[in-house]
Amino acid sequence: MATGNINVSVENIFPLIKKFLYSDHEIFLRELISNATDATLKLKHLTSIGEATVDYGNPVIEVRIDKDNKTLTIKDQGIGMTADEVKKYINEVAFSGAEEFLEKYKDTAKDSGIIGHFGLGFYSAFMVAKKVDIITKSYKDEPAAHWTCDGSPKFTLETSDKTDRGTEIVLHIADDSEEFLEDGKIEQLLVKYNKFMPVPIKFGTREETLPKAEDAAEDAEPEKITVDNIINNPEPAWTKQPADLNEDDYKNFYRELYPMQFEEPLFHIHLNVDYPFNLTGILYFPKLSNDLNIQKDKIQLYQNQVFVTDNVEGIVPEFLTMLKGVIDSPDIPLNVSRSYLQADGAVKKISSYITRKVADKLKSLFNENREDFEKKWNDIKVVIEYGMLSEDKFFEKADKFALYPTVNDTYFTFDELLEKVKDQQTDKDGKTILLYASNKDAQHSYIQDAKAKGYEVLLLDSPIVSHLIQKLETSKENISFVRVDADHIDNLIKKDEEKISKLSDEEKETLKTDLEKVIDAKTYTVQLEALDSTAAPFIITQPEFMRRMKEMSATGGGGMFGMGNMPEMYNLVVNTNNDLVSNILNTIETEKKESLIKQSLDLAKLSQGLLKGEDLTNFVKRSYDLIK
Ligand code: ADP
Ligand code: MG
Repeated sequence: MATGNINVSVENIFPLIKKFLYSDHEIFLRELISNATDATLKLKHLTSIGEATVDYGNPVIEVRIDKDNKTLTIKDQGIGMTADEVKKYINEVAFSGAEEFLEKYKDTAKDSGIIGHFGLGFYSAFMVAKKVDIITKSYKDEPAAHWTCDGSPKFTLETSDKTDRGTEIVLHIADDSEEFLEDGKIEQLLVKYNKFMPVPIKFGTREETLPKAEDAAEDAEPEKITVDNIINNPEPAWTKQPADLNEDDYKNFYRELYPMQFEEPLFHIHLNVDYPFNLTGILYFPKLSNDLNIQKDKIQLYQNQVFVTDNVEGIVPEFLTMLKGVIDSPDIPLNVSRSYLQADGAVKKISSYITRKVADKLKSLFNENREDFEKKWNDIKVVIEYGMLSEDKFFEKADKFALYPTVNDTYFTFDELLEKVKDQQTDKDGKTILLYASNKDAQHSYIQDAKAKGYEVLLLDSPIVSHLIQKLETSKENISFVRVDADHIDNLIKKDEEKISKLSDEEKETLKTDLEKVIDAKTYTVQLEALDSTAAPFIITQPEFMRRMKEMSATGGGGMFGMGNMPEMYNLVVNTNNDLVSNILNTIETEKKESLIKQSLDLAKLSQGLLKGEDLTNFVKRSYDLIK
């Protein structure tokens, strides 16, 4: 038997490991299973090239709990280690790695969210164990070795009588870590970190009911057998070639990833690149609601089939964090901090590659089946619009397939829309006016007016649309988006003939004075307009610029500073050609005149959805009085 001191400068590294990684003790299991997997795959490689002449067989990694002895064992059938290799790889390599790690990350270690993404390797076992045994037999013809260490830098190494190839790591669980002796806890961790690892992982057994034999009696008990409980799917869909998978395979894999998710994904994107970096994965477009925040952090990041994190911020462009699925890359440097990660060249390339792939996929869906794409538009538009806003490269590509639906459910691309309206819908300066509504019900009368004149009205109702149209206006030439209730339609779009007012200038003066006596000037600016005699007498509008800026500051960024706190201000367009307006002007009795003005204003407010509270109560009362 040999004993010795592990050569470290830190007198006792283990309390440090415990302290620094306090909140992430559980990663020890991922580390040990990764090592077992590495050892197994190394043997596979050596047998395949004829370097090792042993039988590879069907190796499994077994995880076992012994409650009586308070141990947790991870056993593999991989290459194993000779005594010399244990000295080298465990005493020297692994230890110096652990020491270096602690040195480097002492200061950042408090940020446990970050620390969880580091691999501390073999020594992370001491986060939960007071003593660790390694019993290992190499594939080479050498005696097995037994290494023991109790958490001090002292270790012992002796020969063992283990005869089968591979390594057993026995953790003598520390008193404060006994949760790791519970089946439920271990199974949960295995599922979290190892669900898709490439070597089968066995944890206990389970009962399986056999299908009834055809000649079995009606009342025969179904036959049960005990089978190994295999935790993982060693060949997850993303590791396969797209040509070998069909639509159902992708859907089944989605269910495997999100067992609690009952809704089907809309479509998937299979990522597969090996130059200039390695990356595989499958992204899914789920049905998205208009709430941008609830659906983040659903993409899982793997490194060679080992789960790393579901926080992919910085690796996947922000707008795509709304998608689901997996990304697997050995090239993502996981042993570094997040800020380093974001500045990393390889990571930036990965991010722009993913953006490009997503844009290409959307383009081909659009080209191949436009009808279907239109059907899905409402469920995917948030991602696309968000992407157009935040990534210029994506904007360029998406410009060809982003859709602008009308209130009548016709879907135009931007170019199609422009082609359709550019001759009919221009303002006084020759700019093309793109009319839109954000809510079919709330803006119903305005939409009707615009449609009656033969104009196209878009329905743009996603939460970030004010930002998007702002961006479109700056990147396209000579267009303006205007919501249908921003002004009377005839003021928005140029008409050939000038409308003549029925009222003389003098009459208009009188009317204006009458109106301003009754109407609150802080909220409404009165505008006399000569509109069609059939157009409503009073119309409330809210100028596009003001409203949009307020909306933009409400949905974050882009809006002008402080705009969100501005009071609501409207225009009151009064149609001087409407008979009711003449009536108001010609009413002699002041009280009657005032009540006509109030009634008309309230009706205009009603059609803008602005009549509430006391005003509404008074309106109802006044209306009853009028029809009495
Ligand atoms: P890393 O896995 O990053 O190399 P670790 O600290 O996890 O670092 O492991 C150190 C070394 O110990 C490994 O590189 C490997 O050579 C050896 N080792 C650890 N676990 C096993 C195992 N189960 N079978 C064979 N060798 C192992
Ligand atoms: Mg390791």
